[in-house]
Amino acid sequence: MGGCRTNCPEKISLLDRPREECGVFGIYAPGHDVAQLSYYGLYALQHRGQESAGIAVADGTKIQLYKGMGLVPEVFSGNQLQSLPGFAAIGHVRYSTTGASHPVNAQPLLFRYSGGMLGLAHNGNITNVTELRSQLLTNGSVFQSSTDSEVIVNIIARSAQNNLMDGLIKSMIDVRGSYSLVIITENQLLAMRDPHGFRPLCLGTLGDGGYVVASESCALDTVGATFLRDVQPGEIVVIDKNGLESIQMFKPRHRSHCIFEYIYFARPDSKIDGFNVYKVRQEMGRVLAAEYPVDADIVISVPDSGTTAARGFAEAAGIPFEEGLMKNRYIGRTFIQPTQDMRELGVRLKLNPVREVLNGKRVVMVDDSIVRGTTSNKLVNMLRDCGVREVHMCLSSPPITNSCYYGIDTSNKKELIAAQKSLDEIRRSIGADGLHYLSLEGLLGIFGETRNNFCTACFDGHYPVEVPQPRDTGKYSLE
Ligand code: SF4
Repeated sequence: MGGCRTNCPEKISLLDRPREECGVFGIYAPGHDVAQLSYYGLYALQHRGQESAGIAVADGTKIQLYKGMGLVPEVFSGNQLQSLPGFAAIGHVRYSTTGASHPVNAQPLLFRYSGGMLGLAHNGNITNVTELRSQLLTNGSVFQSSTDSEVIVNIIARSAQNNLMDGLIKSMIDVRGSYSLVIITENQLLAMRDPHGFRPLCLGTLGDGGYVVASESCALDTVGATFLRDVQPGEIVVIDKNGLESIQMFKPRHRSHCIFEYIYFARPDSKIDGFNVYKVRQEMGRVLAAEYPVDADIVISVPDSGTTAARGFAEAAGIPFEEGLMKNRYIGRTFIQPTQDMRELGVRLKLNPVREVLNGKRVVMVDDSIVRGTTSNKLVNMLRDCGVREVHMCLSSPPITNSCYYGIDTSNKKELIAAQKSLDEIRRSIGADGLHYLSLEGLLGIFGETRNNFCTACFDGHYPVEVPQPRDTGKYSLE
């Protein structure tokens, strides 16, 4: 659902990647500059969403909100942060998986209900949103935005009356799909994770009675908080002047943590549900090398997301790792669509080959995933132009054959190259001499005894929560 809906030039994804969802941040810290700490926390989560950013701050009597379109440093200036005094705050960075890319859909959302004010920021996707929205409309709710997050707010507000917990419990009963939420009232910070735990959410302490919650632990590190634990699936955490209270609303159902967080979305320095992302990616590379023994001269990566797996591959295969592709570090994840005759420029804008490293070599190129296959053949051609003798494309994920309904934009099934072509057809269409995807078995094996705790629907079509309809003939199974 990304893309500017006004008169701005069309922006497209630079590389052929699934698109991230959102990042959420929350802090309860009397005596600290919570607006500024939220700003730095969101900065650390910027990779999870670049379309809009917002911070809402509570001071005991009211909640103030500032949000806008763009990257965190584009949205906020020092003056704006200073105009948000308080002791609790929530923040959000957004990429739109549902709802248009429009200021009205930026988060946090701020609402008044019978018990006071409520600010909410959401990472995830509701699978029964159509049904819930129409029920709410019938009962007189009015919607300001097209996000499914506003549906959650309405359910909470309608059911909370003077007890917010009633609203949260009702929303957890009614809402299906993925949600990691941070919520503030005038004097509380709350966090809530869906019973399957699709999207990550962790909890940290500032050591002086202050607490932080965030999509990823890298945000805790950035603001100087110490990681305590992950928020559990089905758990509501309440933080206020009395300290921290945990309410385990539902026994965690079958855990379904998004395995793509480890493959691509999350930052390598984050720890999610017990696993450091860097270590998992490194292991993916090692397993990939064991599954695909290849005679090659060098291993390169598609930076940055393929680099950790490429190093793992190189180490396990005993082949030197080289930086064969250089990334322009000053370019965002989207850019203005080039004209037809400048199409090839698109990928080169982001990645440029190092001829002196590549010329005459047999190369293993490690990337994290192929979605539509639009970039891979350009990369292979680039390598060939540099005199590469053989290109073996290795992916640190299994083939993506099904759409995601839980907050990730993986494209429609019809656009997914692995759903439409055989392995050999893909290899030929990207022009590689060899192509190997990490097997699902190999991927899950990395997680040992917890291997069944993950959603793998985009690889195997087994949807842990009922999806609205098999929109593109994807198989799906119910809870
Ligand atoms: Fe993650 Fe894929 Fe499941 Fe979506 S379908 S939550 S991208 S593992």
